[in-house]
Amino acid sequence: MSESISKKTERIYDVFIAGGGVNGTGVARDAAGRGYTVCLCEMNDFASGTSSNSTKLIHGGLRYLEYYKFRLVQESLKEREVLLKMAPHIIWPMRFILPHSKGMRPAWLLRLGLALYDHLGFRKILPGTSHVKLNNSEFGLPLKSNFKFGYEYSDCWVDDSRLVILNAIDASSKGANIQNYCKVINVEKSNSLWSITTKDSIDGRENVIKAKCFVNASGPWVDNVLQDSFSKKNSNHVRLVRGSHIVVKKIFNHDRSYICQNEDGRIFFIIPYEDKFTLIGTTDIDHDQSVNEVEISEKEKKYICDSANTYLNAEIKLKDIVWSYSGVRPLYDDGASMAQEATRDYVIKTSREDSALMINIFGGKITTYRRLSESILEHIEEFLGKRGNLWTEKSSLPGGDIAVDGQIDLNNKLHMKYPFLTEETIKRLARSYGTLSFEIFSDSNSIESLGKNFGSGLYEKEVKYLIIKEWSRTSDDILFRRSKLGLSFSKEEIKRLDQYLDDFFKTKKSNSNNNKLTSNIAETA
Ligand code: FAD
Repeated sequence: MSESISKKTERIYDVFIAGGGVNGTGVARDAAGRGYTVCLCEMNDFASGTSSNSTKLIHGGLRYLEYYKFRLVQESLKEREVLLKMAPHIIWPMRFILPHSKGMRPAWLLRLGLALYDHLGFRKILPGTSHVKLNNSEFGLPLKSNFKFGYEYSDCWVDDSRLVILNAIDASSKGANIQNYCKVINVEKSNSLWSITTKDSIDGRENVIKAKCFVNASGPWVDNVLQDSFSKKNSNHVRLVRGSHIVVKKIFNHDRSYICQNEDGRIFFIIPYEDKFTLIGTTDIDHDQSVNEVEISEKEKKYICDSANTYLNAEIKLKDIVWSYSGVRPLYDDGASMAQEATRDYVIKTSREDSALMINIFGGKITTYRRLSESILEHIEEFLGKRGNLWTEKSSLPGGDIAVDGQIDLNNKLHMKYPFLTEETIKRLARSYGTLSFEIFSDSNSIESLGKNFGSGLYEKEVKYLIIKEWSRTSDDILFRRSKLGLSFSKEEIKRLDQYLDDFFKTKKSNSNNNKLTSNIAETA
């Protein structure tokens, strides 16, 4: 795990990154792997911003073809199989059904779009588009009877917040100093270096870190960092567009997702989620409130329910919503009049001030984070000199060293080694940690050896791993970003986990105070 920043105030890093979303951790991993010294600070938890609140698709974005975004769509389509091979435990192929009926985009246009989508991305693993009959088929069963046929195409699904944490873990294993709950509050230039003041969000301690390059990967906060930490008061580069999703109890049994067109022309998805649920979204509206207050409105909830109800036989009511989440897209402001028309492409802006390099990232998608990181590294290499080669395309993320279709094999191996775990827990572990599961549970040989039981298959052994190796501090970190166990946890169970974490960190603090005391006594003696 990374060393404490406070002990390293004199160290000069090659690269400092503000923001621990998918882009920040992706840049940290790539840079550390090429041999640069890297420090990353995230003000809350990793992925607590947009990167845990997405639709969770590794996709080209079928609808972006309508806006002629061929570069973005092609880059994204190519990335699907690269990312799938890098992390087949947290990314997997998903088939999408596009049901058709009168009044929608014409069938010939959809066929043309899908043919392009099939060919732009040089598919080798994912199957191509096919025609699908919906009447008298299990895929048509959940839909209203006016949907008689449709098309089926491929994209991928990703556990977005775990993608972030795996990048952070890998960056750390390559020497990067990675910190969550640590906010960048001020940046100044001194002797051609950035002098960055950070504040620990938990104990309020401030530190100063020096670096040659500053990467502003703070997503929707990119202008806030420029305004507040760099005193660049006129920074207004991003347009914040809110997207919300609702989660309801599972409404169909098959594994296909639906891509649907709303009456206003907008696209939304209905996706099988976490085995027992269905995810529906998203909205796309300008976010006028503070970037720190991002919440689904009642109007959005109703909009999503109404949209789903134009397709589904089962009527979704507001009271059926078991969970919801919202995120804001930090879209580079290209002056588009409607939120859904604004560019989803990323924009990188660099400036050199007194021999110090500053890089700002605007916009982007989860799907393109690896390519974005490579582009950022081009600027860093140009500035600091080349240290290593392009390397991430053929690399595995931690735990992802299995075949693309290796899930069942991994489940079987886990079951053989840990027969006392339920099938549900084995599946969850394989999907979250891949081959790392063997490290986490090592030689555990009974359910008792896993320690305290927090519920839904979460035991002390895993919680300790999440604290020590994955920087978890709160129950939210564990239940909603390292996993989605929060969907099954009762209030009572959450309270017990909170209490455990409280005790754990109190003991840790008192032990470290005692150690300081002992070393002071030793020094005096
Ligand atoms: P973030 O994840 O927001 O990370 C920025 C981080 O910076 C935050 O964690 C924040 O706490 C931190 N930070 C801010 N200020 C400071 C500071 N002063 N000091 C330290 N840290 C700071 N993309 C896809 O590819 N597929 C999809 O299906 C998809 N669906 C989406 C659906 C929705 C509703 C939304 C909103 C976006 C979707 N996206 C999708 C886009 C994707 O989620 C984002 O582009 C991506 O997550 C942005 O990552 P990021 O690292 O730039 O920002």
